Amino acid sequence: MAKILDGKKIAEEIKDELRLEILALQKKDVVPGLAVVLVGDDAASKVYVGGKEKVCQELGIFSVVHKLPANVSESNILNLIEELNADKKIHGILVQLPLPGNINPQKIIGAISPKKDVDCFHPENVGKMFLGEVIFLPCTPDGIIEILQRYGIEISGQNVTIVGRSNIVGKPLSMLLLQKNATVTIAHSKTKNLSAETLRADILVSATGRAGLITADMVKQGAVVIDVGMNRDEAGKLVGDVDFAGVSAVAGAITPVPGGVGPMTIAMLMKNTVAAAKNAE
Ligand code: NDP
Repeated sequence: MAKILDGKKIAEEIKDELRLEILALQKKDVVPGLAVVLVGDDAASKVYVGGKEKVCQELGIFSVVHKLPANVSESNILNLIEELNADKKIHGILVQLPLPGNINPQKIIGAISPKKDVDCFHPENVGKMFLGEVIFLPCTPDGIIEILQRYGIEISGQNVTIVGRSNIVGKPLSMLLLQKNATVTIAHSKTKNLSAETLRADILVSATGRAGLITADMVKQGAVVIDVGMNRDEAGKLVGDVDFAGVSAVAGAITPVPGGVGPMTIAMLMKNTVAAAKNAE
């Protein structure tokens, strides 16, 4: 049976490390501050924002959630971002995606000060990450790297297949793994023979939002499997992209859902917020 890569436990370790940094900042009268902008009524977004708020409270990070109605205008959101950019109490700004269809997400994200862009979605920060010049790293990809490193899993020289090529997971993760000397393949919905790509992976990452996409016959014996997917099954239960029971019998190590990548994403957001507060000193 595969070893369980416990993201929840690693996230707790990171939070403990952050507590010390937050304490040191508090001695200098600096309280890290995170502003979250939530537009509309997307149920999943509300859950994610609630989770982020809870961890901010746990750690003593000042947090404020700006809830805006789905029909808010683009210019109203831009005005709010401008206020938050200038607000000294706020070190990190996060706009919860997806935004309603009438709002251009690139325009909104592009308005966030790169110094406060704790999601690392601003084009300037994306470019810097591409060049290996770090201000912030994107939370989910960085969380995945942390899980691998803290479990002592070798990345250099390994064949990694990432299924999913989104701007928030697949593409940035491929870049971070490449910088750590992995040989990276990115698969997606137009990939001709998905199994051929997944079967060669020493480390297989799935970030598709398709429950049960990755089955045991697609996984190499002993491979490390990272499941980013967050999907609801018919009973409303949170499940990943990976058939956990089947794949656990083949893989060497696997992240569960829940309790794998999800808590790491939030922990890395907190890490970026603390880093932003330090940078603002
Ligand atoms: P997107 O919908 O933006 O991207 C999904 C990707 O999966 C696309 O590249 C798509 O291909 C690919 N894909 C879809 N179906 C298939 C298929 N049958 N075979 C191969 N590839 C396929 O999703 P996100 O990246 O935003 O999120 C992916 C999942 O990860 C979701 O479940 C999301 O909830 C979860 N997530 C979890 C996080 C966490 O903290 N745990 C954080 C962020 C996301 P194509 O490009 O060709 O359409």
